Parts: sequence; C-alpha cells; structure tokens
Amino acid sequence: MSSSLIGGMIFSYFLICPRKAWLVRQGIWMEQESEDVALGRLLDETSYSRSEKHLDLYATAPDGTPLTGRIDRAVLKEGVLHETKKGRSCSDAHQWQVRFYLWLLKLNGVSGPGGTPFRGQIDYPALRRSEPVDLMDAQEQELIRQLEGLTALLAADHPPPRIEKRSFCKKCAFEELCYG
Ligand code: SF4
Repeated sequence: MSSSLIGGMIFSYFLICPRKAWLVRQGIWMEQESEDVALGRLLDETSYSRSEKHLDLYATAPDGTPLTGRIDRAVLKEGVLHETKKGRSCSDAHQWQVRFYLWLLKLNGVSGPGGTPFRGQIDYPALRRSEPVDLMDAQEQELIRQLEGLTALLAADHPPPRIEKRSFCKKCAFEELCYG
C-alpha cells in the first residue's frame, strides 16, 4: 500500500466524512470559496495574536506512513497545543485531530515541561470556551486503526458514497457535488 503523506486536516475530514477526505486528496478542493472556512481562518488570525503560532510537525507512524500536522498554536513552556475551531458540531473529530497532533509529538519523542506529555486544548473563541484533550495509550491504538482505514480509503479508485445528509453537509464545499 502506498505511503502518501497524511496530514491532520485530512485525518479530521476522514472522521467527519470519508467521502470528503477522498475528494480533498484528489484535489477536488473548493473550500477556499467557503465563507465558513474563511471565518475560521479569521478567528484563528485575530483571536490569539500574542501567542506562539503555527508549528509544522512531521513524524513516521509505526507502519511507516509519513505524517504531518500544522498546529494552530503551541505554548511550549506550558506544554500545550491549541487548535482553534469555530463551532462544536464536529467536536469528536476535532478531539481526534488534536490527539493526532499529540501523537506526532510523541512519535518524535517530544515532551512538555518536566518530561510530562504534551496536552491539547481546543479553543472555540466564538463560543468563549475551551476543551482539554489528552492522548491515552488506548487512544493511540485507535489512531493507528483509524490511520489504516484512511490509508485504504485514499488508495481507492472511487470515492465512498455520500453520507446521509447531515447538518454539516450544508456548510461543506462539496454539498452541490454530493446533493445538487
Ligand atoms: S456534502 Fe456531506 S456527504 Fe458530501 S463530502 Fe461534504 S460532508 Fe461528505
């Protein structure tokens, strides 16, 4: 099986909708036109301007798959990675995306202050709330399983079927492609 680079964003898409992950990887990408994503970027750029920002990470999974992730914000002296999101409609996928980033650090042997594992935090500035995220051993095994599923999906010649229309399909750049 090919070992193409897997990033945190496509990993998150896979958990929300495998079809979306496949379409994005094929370059069928229209999200630049999405006001939703533009708002997300604006929140990211304006909400936390005084903190350390964007950290690019690379690692290799146990099965040899190359991994990458662009972390929204890392406060290294506190050992906390921050991911900024607009809303909580896909909060479970958001949590796994942050665990994916924590995994990249762990695979690189990077720990926080005093050798403790890095922690994650999802910030929802529009909702004025934050949620902590940790990476447990069992969740690391789940990440390995999820990665296997994503790698198999991306190697397929055809996209998986659309999901039953969910509320987030209305905000997805592929809605017309899927349901038009
Ligand atoms: S519109 Fe819905 S089914 Fe189609 S790619 Fe987006 S999330 Fe998936």
